[in-house]
Amino acid sequence: MTDSELTPIFDRPTSESAAARYRLGDEEMLPETAYQIVHDEAQLDGNARLNLATFVSTWMDDYADKLYAESFDKNMIDKDEYPSTAEVEDRCWRILADLWHAPSVEDAIGTSTTGSSEACMLGGLALKRLWQHKRKAEGKDATKPNLVMSSAVQVCWEKFCNYWDVEMRLMPISDDHKVLDGHDLEKYVDENTIGVVAIMGVTYTGMYEPVKQIAAALDEIQAKTGLDVPIHVDGASGAMIAPFLQPDLEWDFRLERVHSISTSGHKYGGVYPGVGWVVWRDTQWLPSDLVFEVSYLGGNMPTFALNFSRPGAQILLQYYLFLRLGFAGYTAMQQACQDVAVYLSDGIAKLGPFELWNDGTDIPVFAWYLKDETSAKWTLYDLADRLRMKGWIVPAYPMPADLTHLTVQRIVVRNGLSRDLAEKLLADIADAVRYLELLESPMPAEGHTPGFTH
Ligand SMILES: *Cc1c(COP(=O)(O)O)cnc(C)c1O
Repeated sequence: MTDSELTPIFDRPTSESAAARYRLGDEEMLPETAYQIVHDEAQLDGNARLNLATFVSTWMDDYADKLYAESFDKNMIDKDEYPSTAEVEDRCWRILADLWHAPSVEDAIGTSTTGSSEACMLGGLALKRLWQHKRKAEGKDATKPNLVMSSAVQVCWEKFCNYWDVEMRLMPISDDHKVLDGHDLEKYVDENTIGVVAIMGVTYTGMYEPVKQIAAALDEIQAKTGLDVPIHVDGASGAMIAPFLQPDLEWDFRLERVHSISTSGHKYGGVYPGVGWVVWRDTQWLPSDLVFEVSYLGGNMPTFALNFSRPGAQILLQYYLFLRLGFAGYTAMQQACQDVAVYLSDGIAKLGPFELWNDGTDIPVFAWYLKDETSAKWTLYDLADRLRMKGWIVPAYPMPADLTHLTVQRIVVRNGLSRDLAEKLLADIADAVRYLELLESPMPAEGHTPGFTH
């Protein structure tokens, strides 16, 4: 039988043999047949809009979709072929440098990346290289760098430390110190510390770390010991929330100790997956021996990146949103998310069995736990399963060290989770709780709900 266009589409020879899935098929297939197979398989994924686990954008408007379709063929590294896209990239990080109060945007330096992970790696690499230069200039050992951060850091920092041989110094969180807040910092910082990571929007819970307080603790350490330790702010989500919703909060380049800031353009920056940003307050904090030159319009253009080729379309989408929304538009968009987050956290607290860990007033993300986990007949994993049956993806997971005994459940409110949908979600949570409370025998606790994104 051949894969003929005359054969009805679901009666054609397709990939019903398992082998064809794991090796290249022997023959061609009509494009519409192949399309249908891939399309149908992708249907089994969760519904992206109902995925309340992810921070990453799942909705953009029609003009963004149009722009995306027009530019998906552009490779960001081809700055020679696509000088306009290169120029737009430059404008975007300058806009961010300004938004984050760089003392002089002319003296700042930045770049786009594939996301916060790459942006954090670049920020970490700059810290490490600067520290090495300084140690070598002083004739001191430069082989045992360490980086200080909360035990609730995103996995990209564990990768950074692993890939680049930096000792990871994790400060545990506790009920008294829910985030890294400068307390006890002197016990972790020494002459081999390349920097401290401060997180604006801890992934586990959405809480801000008090960057100003951390900077003050480092000032004190410097006064006592002479150690001058810089801060990298991991603002994956918060660096695109705080400027709009908490403009008076000093967490950015207003603090001199903050050398660099990273963010995910594809989180609260509003762009589809594939873009991040990192900015240094001053070119002196990005060692020039990390920067490569690529040919650009017959001249050279500096680049600092892990990848060579990557999509350029997301850069144009970021610029589109900057133009489309402006300061007022971003403020309105983030405020709407926060209003929904507070509405939901309030409603969940009122259901009875839950205690809020936080309420969504930092970034629009909040987590809760069972008031009485030991005597409850059901767990948050059971609740996650019940919600999954309705299409909602609301992950439950254990907290990091030293709170691993505590299981929390988290909701990330993104642009697109409207108040209308949120009311439906709250009703579904209330229904699920009623159902679980009516069960007589305990349900076995199962493993993690898939879908928790760090
Ligand atoms: C999401 C996140 C990251 C990783 O960002 P990607 O853009 O997904 O690579 C890093 N740090 C924090 C705090 C995050 O929330």
